[in-house]
Formats: sequence, C-alpha cells, structure tokens
Amino acid sequence: MRLKPLTPPIQDRLRGIAVGAALGDAFGMPLEFQSQRSAAQMVVEMQRGRLPAGHFTDDTEMALALAESLLVERPLNPLDLTRRFVSWYRSNPEDIGIQTSTILRHASQGEPALQVAAEFLKTNPEAAGNGSLMRCWPVTLAYWNDLPALMETSALQSRMTHAHPDCVNACVVINLLLALLAQGEDIPAAIRQALELAGHPLNVTERVEEAPRKLRSELPNSGWVLHTLEAAIWGLTTTNNFKDAIIQVANLGHDADTAATVAGALAGAAYGLMDIPLQWRKLLSGEWPLGSRTMWQDIGFIDLADRLANT
Ligand SMILES: [Mg+2]
Repeated sequence: MRLKPLTPPIQDRLRGIAVGAALGDAFGMPLEFQSQRSAAQMVVEMQRGRLPAGHFTDDTEMALALAESLLVERPLNPLDLTRRFVSWYRSNPEDIGIQTSTILRHASQGEPALQVAAEFLKTNPEAAGNGSLMRCWPVTLAYWNDLPALMETSALQSRMTHAHPDCVNACVVINLLLALLAQGEDIPAAIRQALELAGHPLNVTERVEEAPRKLRSELPNSGWVLHTLEAAIWGLTTTNNFKDAIIQVANLGHDADTAATVAGALAGAAYGLMDIPLQWRKLLSGEWPLGSRTMWQDIGFIDLADRLANT
C-alpha cells in the first residue's frame, strides 16, 4: 500500500524524526534520574551530564542498530537484529535497561531473542518498560508509506526484548503517528487515525487520549512504557514547536532522555528538520558503533533518514 510519493516536505519531516529523536535523547541525558523541574528552573539549552553536551545515549544506539538492520534486510530479520543488538550489548554500553540486558545476555549465549522475551513476560507479566519504544522510530523511516508493514515491523522489533502488549501497542501507535505526521496530517487528526488504525488498543488508547489534558504534576515519567507514551504525547500536544516540546518533556526528569527521544521524534515529524534549532543540531554527537571511534553528527542522521526512506 503505497500512500504518497516522497516529496521535499515529507523528506524534511522524515529527517526531522531521526535528528529530533537523537537530539531529544541528548537534551534529556543530563536530566535523567532528576526530579521534575518547575517552570522557573527549567533547563532550556543542551547541557553536559554524565556525557558531554549533545551526546546521545543507549536509546539512540539501539535505534541505530535497528536502522542498520532495516537498511540491509526487509522484512526485518529477527536474527540479523539480534546479532546487531548482541554486538552492541558486548561493546559495554554506558547505559542499558535491565530487561534489555537480561534478554540480550541470553541472546548472546545463542538463545533466540523472541523466545527469551516471550518467556520473560510469562515470569514477569507486569514487565512493561519503555525499552522498545525508545528505539522504534527507524521503522517509520523504512515504512512511512506502507502502514501495514510499519505496524507489523513495529510490533516485531518490540517483541525482540519487550513482549508485553502495552509495549508492542505503544510502538505501533507511535510509529503510525510518526508516519501520519510525516505525511502531513495535523496533530489531532494524526492521533485519531493512528489509534484507529491500531484498533484502539487497551491502555495505550486511554493514555494517548488523556495525555493532552494532563498537568505536569500528573506525569511521573518513569521507565514504564505508558508513562513515556503519555509524556511524549503531552509534549507534542501542549506546545507548538520542536524546541518547546523537547524542553517541556525533558524537564519532567526521571526517564527524561527516553521520553524526550520519543517527543523529539514526534515533534521532528510534526515540524520537520527546518524547525530544529541549528545550535542544538551542531552539538549532536555520539560514537557509533561503540568502540569504532566513528562519531555520528546530525548529518549522519539526515543521511540515514534518506537512505531508509529511499530503499
Ligand atoms: Mg538513555
């Protein structure tokens, strides 16, 4: 189902997804694990934290592994993606989620990730962290005009580590939303259509629909997938430009980098690369693959978006 041809405005918004997600991650990095900031105390510029200012974290590293897998193989091959996740896991990332680490430790010993993640859910039925949502955006770049494939691939990449229905459904809804925004739908219409196309999934629908009306104080922004989802949707729907969306969401603190990653992808899709502050873009940096001494900058993400959208 080819919906629309790749026009310059759509290309700009797809580039905005890639750069926006990585920038949101970098902006949120120094605010991770902090408490929520009041309006008067908000951080409004890129700051250093445990890493230099502008550096992205594990959220973007895992997204790059997924993106590179989608560049070489479509439909997504779970074995290829597992190999890339395991290679990242073995390179001693500075940060890695607890559940992701558990699944990838088993996968690194040769067990199939999909099966390990399914077993993990059986013994931990409440385990619904944001580890698959934070890295899901490359699927939209690959399938922005093929929504059935986008939905299937969003779900599959989640089930590699996070099999809980809320995790799977959050990835499907966010990627649908990214694709609809990139195609030029306005924000309320894109939200409505994304939920409809996803079949109004339980829990996720309620969080998405209620997020625009929530107060800052009602957003715990923990590592729980539904908290990340509502924070990102709240940031998108209560601001009207990229910069404010990121600032508002990152200053929620706690899992700041992950929520700002998702908000960055959404705001990048809504407003395009052209609305992303140049002074932030200039600071964006991170080593990929880890240990390679190859530093990624904004141009790398732009090129990645173009390659994913054109192949
Ligand atoms: Mg992180």
